[in-house]
Amino acid sequence: MQTINSIKEMQTFSNREMGEGKTIALVPTMGFFHPGHLSLMEEGRRRGDFLVVSIFVNPTQFGAGEDYEDYPRDMERDQKLAEETGVDVIFTPPVDEMYPSDYQTCVNVEEVTRNLCGISRPAHFRGVTTVVCKLFSIVKPSFAIFGEKDFQQLVAIRQMVSDLNIDVKIVGMPIYREEDGLALSSRNKYLTPDERKAALCLFRSLMRAKELFRQGERKTEEILSEVMSIIKAEQLAEIDYVKICDVKTLKDIEQINQETVLALAAKIGKTRLIDNIILNPSDCI
Ligand code: AMP
Repeated sequence: MQTINSIKEMQTFSNREMGEGKTIALVPTMGFFHPGHLSLMEEGRRRGDFLVVSIFVNPTQFGAGEDYEDYPRDMERDQKLAEETGVDVIFTPPVDEMYPSDYQTCVNVEEVTRNLCGISRPAHFRGVTTVVCKLFSIVKPSFAIFGEKDFQQLVAIRQMVSDLNIDVKIVGMPIYREEDGLALSSRNKYLTPDERKAALCLFRSLMRAKELFRQGERKTEEILSEVMSIIKAEQLAEIDYVKICDVKTLKDIEQINQETVLALAAKIGKTRLIDNIILNPSDCI
């Protein structure tokens, strides 16, 4: 496995592989790997001849007062895990190469980024789509693998790729969970033991929603009020949003007649966590 720190070197590398007719799979990450990241890498391994994993804690997707400085980082451990998972190249560009002082361009996906996390993190998705667009033009992957854990991010990236005619296949991978249901996240590291226990209310609330849905409930108001009451019963939890939206437009809906995502964000102590499940009437036929 090779670690590449410079954009130019990464481009030279990708051009050479493509010249030899090889396909590249890319897994963009912010590092501090957990098994969710590794499941994306395994999929990348299956898809492409060559697997590139980028590690870049992207400053432009963090808002003021968010955890950019504190975001967990452990390059040595990440390199070891990536190598064991069969990664060919780790790409870790420096911030000042990605965003030199005269940097001026951003990619903004307008509609699907407005709702959900876009409400409390208004500049977040612009930062994400900009950096992912840059990574695509540097690495030139045929496949790029993303987790459904960040559902809105995945929808925004699919939209960007379609709108800008970027020639890459976007592959979404299911949420990887701890045995007790907590969705894996690099930010789980921030949780104290009490908060870790409290965080389970999120998965519990989603499972209750699924149960109601399977029993035939289709009114979002009814499902959301149960979900919120489960989370509110947990003292350490503070809801940012709980919503049921169309999977493609991410607009709120009132009655579930199509495939929807129940997405939520909540603070557990100081740590903001997100999670989601799909509610699809055609799964119940
Ligand atoms: P991050 O390093 O948090 O930016 O995540 C990098 C990629 O891993 C993104 O595509 C995430 O959606 C994905 N990811 C993060 N957590 C999980 C998880 N628990 N299961 C599956 N994919 C995940």
